[in-house]
Amino acid sequence: MDTISRSSLSEIVAGKIAGMILDEVYRSGYQLPAERDLVKQFGVSRSTLREALKLLEDSALIEVRHGVGSFVAELTEVSLLKAHEIADKAAGQNYNTESESIPIEEVPEGPKRLPVNPEKPLIIPNLQKDRLGTFSFISWWEREKVENAKVMIIGAGALGNEVIKNMVLMGIGNLYIVDFDTIEMANLSRSVLFRESDKGRKKAEVAAARAKEINPNVHVQYMHGDVTTEIGLGVFRRMDVIVGCLDNREARLAVNRFAYWMNKPWVDGAIQEFFGLARVFVPGEGACFECTLTEQARRDLSIRYSCPLLARENVLLGKVPTTPTIASIIGAIQSQEALKLIHNKPVEAGKVIHFNGMTNEMHKTSYTPVDDCESHWTYGKITELPLRADTTTLEDMLKIIHRDLGPQAVLEFDQELILSLYCRNCQTKEDILQPISQVGFNHAHCPSCGMLRETEMTHTITGEEPFLNRTLSSLGIPKLHILRAYNADQYAFYELTADLENALHFSHFQKPVIKLGDIPVIKISNPEEKTVIKVRETRIKIESDDPDQ
Ligand SMILES: [Zn+2]
Ligand SMILES: [Zn+2]
Repeated sequence: MDTISRSSLSEIVAGKIAGMILDEVYRSGYQLPAERDLVKQFGVSRSTLREALKLLEDSALIEVRHGVGSFVAELTEVSLLKAHEIADKAAGQNYNTESESIPIEEVPEGPKRLPVNPEKPLIIPNLQKDRLGTFSFISWWEREKVENAKVMIIGAGALGNEVIKNMVLMGIGNLYIVDFDTIEMANLSRSVLFRESDKGRKKAEVAAARAKEINPNVHVQYMHGDVTTEIGLGVFRRMDVIVGCLDNREARLAVNRFAYWMNKPWVDGAIQEFFGLARVFVPGEGACFECTLTEQARRDLSIRYSCPLLARENVLLGKVPTTPTIASIIGAIQSQEALKLIHNKPVEAGKVIHFNGMTNEMHKTSYTPVDDCESHWTYGKITELPLRADTTTLEDMLKIIHRDLGPQAVLEFDQELILSLYCRNCQTKEDILQPISQVGFNHAHCPSCGMLRETEMTHTITGEEPFLNRTLSSLGIPKLHILRAYNADQYAFYELTADLENALHFSHFQKPVIKLGDIPVIKISNPEEKTVIKVRETRIKIESDDPDQ
């Protein structure tokens, strides 16, 4: 047998590995067996193997991570050519393993490799290019779930800023940000996403724009408006997790009901000075937010509801002193809970995590579910209608409802519709026909005598009303809403699904993306100068999002 020099021996080993890479025995991103295993496999010394690995590394076929191992690189055209070259050179050649003088037993053991989740191949990303790269090392982290996740963040204040920041850093793929407020100077002390120049701008819009800036791979959508009335249930229906960063009970109660109706988990957070709490609510698992309310809280809410026009405006007054530090702590817990929910990891639903920043004590408490809690109701089968809120009339809806549930069926609104305001003093009646959310408290006073007028309201539509020609949106029904109707026996649910692309697209701040592969080179010959001018025609492709993905 011919003697083979050590350098050619390492080339042969490199060639064999290159061949296995080409045959996809070892695929891009996968870790090669440990050095000691390769030493055994090829029957060569460790130094020969290392030379072989060095050759593969220099050819950009593998990446050697010291202390971790060798990983097959993402192959480019150049590195593929190189792989063929190395593999071809070694093809057909063999060697006598006895020419290697180091017995296998002497190979030092080296550190034990980290246990690898068998269901999750260890894929080593390119940390130079891949911003989510390091998360791949988390044993349970699943890129696909994270990138496809849809998370609604309600409230873009101190907590919302923290949660949004964490969500984009973690690469949560689709964020829907809701807030009705605008930015004032005092927000700047605890809102990492806001700048002085943002004063007066919409919180939701600015937060969404900054989110996109931090991580352009994330799809964002924002809604400047009131979560209790302006978001269709179809939006909730398409979320994976809802994160509440709210500062009032009314909004929490509304979010809790919407989440329960749509069978979605939601993560609540609350902060005050150095104290905070975070809690996860999952429909059907333990207590919901409404279950946690004390008798007094319930009474407070019902007092407010008894004077409905006043209730809504009081909500806006509740300013609670908070610090950016407690917002970071609680926002971080909420974000982690959301990440667990996205991965279907166990969460402790119906429990609260309290954090006391004065004593640094943290403790968990379970809430007791309330049997007759009014929030405990989940919608049944939802019929998707090819209809839109702004073009569908009450009459159109009633036809469908009567067809399905019979002539006695009625349509039930989520919020009260104010039909009219009546002044007892002047005996005048003003027709309103607006949802309660759109009628201010000031409006309740009689314009002539100033007395508080009586409100005539309803939340059911029977078919007898004189305003059946009104469109759903003119009566305050948001886009992509799910309406409910009932007869004596059952409920039925109808989604205004034709609103989908307008109501849920996750493409605010989406920049047109130029794909280099799409640029054709057109040659134009100029007969006068007899030269060839190359013109690059740029075809701009707008990246579109399929909202129902
Ligand atoms: Zn409950
Ligand atoms: Zn009057």
